[in-house]
This record gives sequence, structure tokens and C-alpha cells, in this order.
Amino acid sequence: MNNENINKTNINWYPGHMAKTRREITDVISLIDVVIEVIDSRIPYSSRIPDLNKVTREKQNIIVFNKYDLCDKEETNKWISKYQNEGYICITCDSKNSNDYKKVISEVNVLMNKVNQKRSLKGLLPKKAKCLVIGVPNVGKSTLINKLAGRNIVGVGNKPGVTKQLSTIKINEFMDLVDTPGILWPKFNSQELALNLASMTIIKEEILTIEEVAIHILKKLDMYYKDILKKEFGISYYNDDEVEELFEIISKYKNIPVNGEVNYERVSTLIVNTIKQEKIKNITFDRL
Ligand code: GDP
Repeated sequence: MNNENINKTNINWYPGHMAKTRREITDVISLIDVVIEVIDSRIPYSSRIPDLNKVTREKQNIIVFNKYDLCDKEETNKWISKYQNEGYICITCDSKNSNDYKKVISEVNVLMNKVNQKRSLKGLLPKKAKCLVIGVPNVGKSTLINKLAGRNIVGVGNKPGVTKQLSTIKINEFMDLVDTPGILWPKFNSQELALNLASMTIIKEEILTIEEVAIHILKKLDMYYKDILKKEFGISYYNDDEVEELFEIISKYKNIPVNGEVNYERVSTLIVNTIKQEKIKNITFDRL
């Protein structure tokens, strides 16, 4: 796909209701003290919301590096340092399998203590933190909210509409949480970004073909993780000129019948699903 197509897709793919979500979040934001941006640790650049500052203005901002269990720690930690240097509070988190969510609660407490110290100097009473969890689809916002709340209030995997009104739940004496995540869509302006997002199932295959996404995954593995390429797919390199031969080798390695012709769609789906089903771990696709 060339850049012209991507730009077309970009415009078509940011329909009215997504712009509406952004407006609704903008409306609600004045009532929020802390914005908790959840990102996918495997793509610490591509899964960030572009221009979030425009929406969140001067709020206290925490970045949760979620799905940290699936990333290449060495590479992702470089992004953590970068964002920390820019003034963000960064928290690594495996929302699905751990109690890392407690780190979010402590950081919010630290932030609010500072706010409340200033308030007390002015003779004002301490304030409870009102927090909003925000992020692009599928990064684990609902999973994190449910952990913070200690019960299931948001359907995981479901895509709740929008933060329609500010209905909050109490997390503790110092912290309330808006009970619906703020879902914002990435506005991708490069092919690399769109392909990274599709590789982690943040955008779906309607935007790009499954073959393009699969080839992107193979290229990234070839560039950074040759051992995984070999182990998962039975090939020791990827090269566009040999795509037919390489897909045939993968088919055989994965016992997909070739019957005279490679089933590109089936092989591509298998490649994409390997990441989706978390069979591949320790990968980070964004590089500083
Ligand atoms: P949302 O769209 O941002 O609300 O994402 P969900 O909470 O629905 O999570 C999307 C998928 O990612 C689900 O299958 C979750 O079980 C999974 N998930 C969420 N957080 C983590 C995490 O930290 N690690 C792993 N491995 N999976 C996670």
C-alpha cells in the first residue's frame, strides 16, 4: 500500500463518531485531576494517542505501559526513560496476570498529596483524585479498570461506547475513577504506524489486508528477532523478493496444505494470530 492510499484510509477511517468521542472527552476533562493513558508496551510510540495534550490540557499525566509481560523489556525501557525525561510518570503493568495496578494507585496518591499540600497552604480542604483511564482500543483499559475497581464493571474485549457522563466509582479514600474508559482512536499518518497498530490488533484488517500485516510482522521479526522467526515460522530471514518461497516454507512448517498453491490468506492469518494469541513474547516493534 502506498502513502496515498494510507492518507485516503486515514481520512475515511476517522469517522464522525470518533471525532465525537474526542469532543466528549474534551468536555469531561475539566472535571478530571489525573489522566491515566494506557499504552501497549510492545509499541510504546505507535499506541500513544497523538495530540493527547490537546485533549488533556495541563492535567497530571500517567502513562501505563500495559502488556509489559509481552514486550522486549530492554527496548521498551528505553521508551520509558524517554517519556520520564519528558516529565511523564511511567508505570509498567501486566493488568491481566498481576497486581501491578496497585502501582497506579500509589502514583495517584503521590500526585494528589502534592496537590493537597498546596491546597492546605491556601486553607483549602484535601481533594479526592478524579481519574480517567484513556487510550486506543485493545491496550487493556477495561482490564485495568476492573482490577482497580476490584470487580468487573467494564466488559473486557467489549468496546464500550464513550464516556457519556461522569459516573465514578470509589477506589479508596483518595481516589475516584470514571467507570468507562475514554477510547480514542489513533490517527495514523504513516504506513509504519498503521502496520504496527494492526500487528497488535489495535486496528483491524479492514484498514490493511491481512497479508500486509503478516508481512510487516515477518519483516520486524527479521530485523529484530531472527530467533523467533526461526522458531515460530521455520524461516531464517524475510525478503520481499522471495515471498512465495518463504510462505511455502511457513505453510509446510505449520502443516498448512499447499495443494499446488500457497494459501496466502490462511498463512497470513496464522502469522497475525501468533501475536494475537500471545504465542510470541518479548517483542517491541517501535525503536527509538
Ligand atoms: P481495552 O479495549 O483497552 O479496554 O482492552 P481490554 O481490557 O478489553 O483488553 C484487550 C485484551 O488484552 C484482552 O484479551 C485482555 O485480557 C488482554 N490484556 C489486557 N491487559 C493485559 C496485560 O497487561 N497483559 C496481557 N498479556 N494481556 C492483557
